[in-house]
Amino acid sequence: MANQDDLFKNIISHSKEYGFIFPSSEIYDGLSAVYDYGQYGAELKKNIREYWWKAMVQLNENIVGIDAAIFMHPTTWKASGHVDAFSDPLIDNKDSKKRYRADVLIEDAMTKFEDKINKEVEKAAKRFGETFDAAMYRTTNPRVMEYQKKIDDTNARFKTALENNDMDGLKQIIVDLEVVCPVSGSRNWTEVRQFNLMFSTQLGSVAEDSNTIYLRPETAQGIFVNFLNVQKTGRMKIPFGIAQTGKAFRNEIVARQFIFRMREFEQMEMQFFIRPGTENEWYEKWKATRMNWHKALGIPESKYRFHDHLKLAHYAKAACDIEFEFPFGFKELEGIHSRSDFDLKQHEQFSGKKLQYFDPELNESYVPFVIETSIGLDRMFLATMSYAYKEEKLEDGSERVVLNLPPFLAPIKAAILPLVNKDGLPEKAEEIINILKFEHIITSEEKDSIGKRYRRQDAIGTPYCITVDHQTLTDNTVTIRERDTMKQERVAIDQLSKIIGEKVSMNNVLRKL
Ligand code: ATP
Repeated sequence: MANQDDLFKNIISHSKEYGFIFPSSEIYDGLSAVYDYGQYGAELKKNIREYWWKAMVQLNENIVGIDAAIFMHPTTWKASGHVDAFSDPLIDNKDSKKRYRADVLIEDAMTKFEDKINKEVEKAAKRFGETFDAAMYRTTNPRVMEYQKKIDDTNARFKTALENNDMDGLKQIIVDLEVVCPVSGSRNWTEVRQFNLMFSTQLGSVAEDSNTIYLRPETAQGIFVNFLNVQKTGRMKIPFGIAQTGKAFRNEIVARQFIFRMREFEQMEMQFFIRPGTENEWYEKWKATRMNWHKALGIPESKYRFHDHLKLAHYAKAACDIEFEFPFGFKELEGIHSRSDFDLKQHEQFSGKKLQYFDPELNESYVPFVIETSIGLDRMFLATMSYAYKEEKLEDGSERVVLNLPPFLAPIKAAILPLVNKDGLPEKAEEIINILKFEHIITSEEKDSIGKRYRRQDAIGTPYCITVDHQTLTDNTVTIRERDTMKQERVAIDQLSKIIGEKVSMNNVLRKL
């Protein structure tokens, strides 16, 4: 079995080898942190998006979906706070020319001190045996206390520097901690500077400042600015939601984790507009609802956990992440945020337009509060892939790689395989495809031995392989092989549609929500 690092590497190479994800413009050596979805990736991604859309929009009468433009009026991003505050502190190493996030370097350095403390405690535990009191040791051992003091002091300086936007302060912490570049091993650092993560471009042909616009760094603002349009034209009554999926762009400083952190990615966001004062109730409700959506996929619950944000944005009432256990550890997959009336109020102020709702029950107008759920489609893709990818040893000693994708998400639902490429079997296979293709994405394959073709479909995650043989020509039956159990059964062709339909039904999953 591969270790976690190898596992992640294997998932990346599998994704490429089997047509799920390619580096962007690969013939030119790719573009950093930008990826293209191939023939199977595009299907899987579309199915995940559809699962989200149906769960949000189709199953909830009070949630509607929109499709706002990527370009927005530049003032949008002043109002949202992105022009002033959507930035990360960056630092370069002059020898390796590698760029880092200063905050991440500092956090990593502190983790090293924590590791040192844990090692000391482990050593002592071995030495002292059963009578060892770890808590006592941590507060009395001079070396541990020294490390702990370093962590506490650094944390305090770090917090102050971040709060005051003090880039020199951050640099000084890096110097004092004697942080070295992992690539060059040197301490030859540039100054720290703030780096805004938004991509900008020009609208029209005249390159003046006023024409600078941004590629949206999140889809949410397209929802906020359309709040009244949708509410009025859709006669929406509070509480109601607006959902949207679409591309977002961030010029991430460090983007080295495949599709976990991309510069161009897709978000699936929903803003739920509520009466002020009901935010705690709705926050809890959306936390539970979103977790259920994940659980209905059949991925073990132990792979998910909530992580509450300790440091909240000044406008936020509460915020948490749903974290997923990726091969590189538990990391944010989705954010759930109680955002008060911050965004709508900001847009009121910057646009001079009222963004209020008249509540007929209360007989008063107010700016609604918002609960937001925001998930990255690509991250969800990676979560699904990391769970599904299995290297299995079979009973006969052979090995196979299989993608145990939830069948309703699988890119191809069934592969029709003529046993031999003659005797009228390919034509019979074609007949079956012509029946099934109106309901599902079906493929056929004629090359290689049947065993090899099964393995290939396992690697793509196809739930069923259907083999057409000579008997098929006489009695219209085929063998159907199930991906996970590898069990084979002989069934009549006219049963196929029902068998496959049951197995890959998205509705059956939606009914569990
Ligand atoms: P992180 O802390 O990982 O940078 P974030 O807190 O900035 O993420 P949000 O702004 O809350 O992320 O965005 C909502 C969701 O969008 C995230 O939960 C994640 O799934 C997705 N997302 C954010 N940035 C990226 C990215 N660069 N690449 C892929 N997905 C992303």
